[in-house]
Amino acid sequence: MNYNKRREVLTKKIDADAFLVYNMEGSDFPSMYYLTGFTGEGALVVSTNGPLLITDSRYTEQAKREIPNVPVRQVSGSYLDEIGAAIKESGIARLALSGVRMSCSMVNKLREKASAEIIITEDPVNDLRRIKEPEEIERIRAAVKLTEESLDELVRGIKVGMSERELSLRLEFIMREKGAEQVAFDLIVAAGENAALPHYQPGGRTLKQGDLLLFDIGAKLDRYCADMTRVFSVGKPTAKAQEIYNIVLAANMAGIAAVSEGASGKAVDAAARDLITAKGYGEHFQHGLGHGVGLEVHEGPRLSPMSTDTLEAGMTVTVEPGIYIPGFGGVRIEDLTVVTKNGCEVLTSFPKEELVQVG
Ligand code: ZN
Ligand code: ZN
Repeated sequence: MNYNKRREVLTKKIDADAFLVYNMEGSDFPSMYYLTGFTGEGALVVSTNGPLLITDSRYTEQAKREIPNVPVRQVSGSYLDEIGAAIKESGIARLALSGVRMSCSMVNKLREKASAEIIITEDPVNDLRRIKEPEEIERIRAAVKLTEESLDELVRGIKVGMSERELSLRLEFIMREKGAEQVAFDLIVAAGENAALPHYQPGGRTLKQGDLLLFDIGAKLDRYCADMTRVFSVGKPTAKAQEIYNIVLAANMAGIAAVSEGASGKAVDAAARDLITAKGYGEHFQHGLGHGVGLEVHEGPRLSPMSTDTLEAGMTVTVEPGIYIPGFGGVRIEDLTVVTKNGCEVLTSFPKEELVQVG
C-alpha cells in the first residue's frame, strides 16, 4: 500500500493547509489505517510537510513497529492540548477535518484550543477509499473466499431443530478458525418469518421444515470486509418460497449485468428493482440495491433510487435485491462485484442458481 501517495492525493483534495484525523475507540479507524497503516488510536495531521501521528504511551511502541517512517509526538497532557500545540508549532492556518467522523463536542473544543481556522468537510478520505487499489481488491477477494468456505462447511452440518443463534456462533467459529480477524458485522442468520426482517439479529428460533433460511455474512481478513447473502430452504421449499427466490435471483443477475464504469447508482438499482416491481413485489423491496465494501462493510458508492453516485472502475459494490413478506419470510441474494471498464467482476462464487435444500 502506498501511504505516501494516498496522503499526497488527500492534501491536494482539501482546501486547507492540513487534514486532521482523530481515531479514538474506533471513531475513524478507516482513515487512520488508510493513510498510514497504523492500527492504534490517536490523531493524525496530514499536510504537505508530511504526516505527524499524535498518540499516547499505550501506542508509541506499536507505532514504531507499524509505521517507523511516520514521526510520532507523544501526548503528555490531553490530546486536545497536544493537537493544539502541534498545529500551532507547524504554522497551520487552515485545518480541515471530517464532520462525519468527528463529534461536535470535539470540533467545538478544537475551535477553542487551536490557533487555526477549522474547516469542516464531509469525509474526503472516504471519497478516496471508494476506488480500490489492486492490493485492496486482493484482500477483499480473500475475505470473500474465507466467508464462502466457512458457509460451505456450516451448511453441510445444518439440521432441523438447530437455532439461528447456534448457526451464527458455529459460523463465526469456523471463520475464526480459518484465520478471520473477526466478523465484518454481526452475522445475520434468519429462519422462517424472521427472514422478512432485513437486519435481523439471530435468536432462539429453531429450524423447521419448509423454512427459508437466510445468511447475510462476512468475515474480516487483513482489515478488509466481505459481505454476502445466500438463502436456503429447510427441507422442500414451498411454492411461494421458490417463486420469490426465482424473482430475486433474476433481479440479482439484472443488477450485476448493469454494473459498469459510467453507470449511475440509480440506474443499476433500477435495473434490479424494476424487475421486482414488474412481478408485483415492488413494495416488498424497500432498501437500496447495494453499497461499497472495503475497510468498512458499508461505504461508498451507493446503489439506490436516491443515489447520486456514478460508478468508476476499481469501485466495489454489492448487488443485493430482496423480497420480504411479513409473517412468511424473505429472500435476499447478495454478491460483491468490482466495477471494470466494460462491466464488472463478481468476487462471490458461492452457488445461487438453485434454492438449495438443507437439513
Ligand atoms: Zn450483507
Ligand atoms: Zn451488503
